[in-house]
Amino acid sequence: MKKRIAILGSTGSIGINALKVISSLSDRFEVTALSAGSNIKALSDQARSFHPKVLCVRDSALAGRLKASAPSGTKILTGADGLDEIVSRGDVDIVIFAISGSSCAAPLICAIKKRKRIALANKESLVSAGAIVMPLAKKNNVSIIPVDSEHSAIFQCLEGKRPFLNKVYLTATGGPLLDIPKSRFDRYSRKFILNHPKWKMGGKISVDSATMMNKGLEVIEAKWLFDLEEERIDVLVHPEAAIHSMIELIDGTIFAQISLPDMRIPIQYAVTYPARFRTEVEFLNFSNIKNLSFRKPDTGKFPSLRLAREALKRGGTHPAVLNAADEEAVKSYLKGRMKFSRIPVLIERVLERHKRAVKEPSIGDIIGAESWAREEMAKLCR
Ligand code: NDP
Ligand code: MG
Repeated sequence: MKKRIAILGSTGSIGINALKVISSLSDRFEVTALSAGSNIKALSDQARSFHPKVLCVRDSALAGRLKASAPSGTKILTGADGLDEIVSRGDVDIVIFAISGSSCAAPLICAIKKRKRIALANKESLVSAGAIVMPLAKKNNVSIIPVDSEHSAIFQCLEGKRPFLNKVYLTATGGPLLDIPKSRFDRYSRKFILNHPKWKMGGKISVDSATMMNKGLEVIEAKWLFDLEEERIDVLVHPEAAIHSMIELIDGTIFAQISLPDMRIPIQYAVTYPARFRTEVEFLNFSNIKNLSFRKPDTGKFPSLRLAREALKRGGTHPAVLNAADEEAVKSYLKGRMKFSRIPVLIERVLERHKRAVKEPSIGDIIGAESWAREEMAKLCR
């Protein structure tokens, strides 16, 4: 029987790649449900190609427009309740979480309670609510398979070796500003910042890659996915993006996962795990590689990485505050309301003001800390 998939965020960069993977393995997978924020045109086009039973958009005004353009007979849902309904359906086996932002935590928790198989691209939900999500997944015996390329690499390298793990190396391309002096960051346009040298991704993660907050969020994501202390998660800048991450074992052996940068590989593995199938991606040809280089990240130039590590060490509600402040700062930057160089400065300020931290937060404490951080960032942006 075919596995039935729901994609939350199907019109984004991960969502589109996930649909390519499903098309290429159409004898094994079918689409039950798709969701988008507001891109009605793309969502209805996808619905005509993949025939899902259900679609979901952000609100009822958008749902009215979607009804007019989606194939007749398709059920249309809205908002957070709609996402919860999708992940709870009996005819959904696997949920791909490809919405950006920590609002993904609520449907993720719901999917875990319904014991769905989870392919997790969204990292913000783990950064913010990892302390709730991971124990819940364990309790319900649910596998969370990472889609984020570095975490997929570590997940693949770790198979059968977890007891012997010394530490992990998360690789980072360094983003578009890697070799540009910090004093010149604000001279570069949003178009430049959004044009990542190795990956084609959505706006939020592209800005996070330029500030290197993306790697900071990934350190926290790795902590939760692999149950690691902060000191055992090293970051290495590797601009060629051939090695997607590595693990070091207690005998000094290092395993790396290597391929051309193409998100269809980790997406496919997350839905087919533990099996592997042929992909339609281009394969790496070693004779085309002139150099593989590595350097330590410069946290003076990219303070976001330091801020994320500090938030992780402090624990409790600090990572949720870091993440929410970053989401708001990036939104402001993308709307042209904030200079690029202000992003980490203002995130640090919000973190400094977080005096009511909760050490072992409930989901309510996390939501409260997030909305406080969003308001605080909004005040600083005014
Ligand atoms: P995109 O911005 O390209 O896509 C986001 C998707 O979520 C779109 O379908 C969008 O719909 C939908 N969406 C946005 N806001 C809402 C909302 N409030 N409610 C419901 N749906 C919403 O993001 P990416 O695909 O780049 O990234 C998705 C997630 O995957 C992020 O968490 C990112 O960190 C992670 N990730 C991405 C990688 C990549 O290569 N892109 C790599 C590793 C991780 P609409 O189109 O209508 O706006
Ligand atoms: Mg990544």
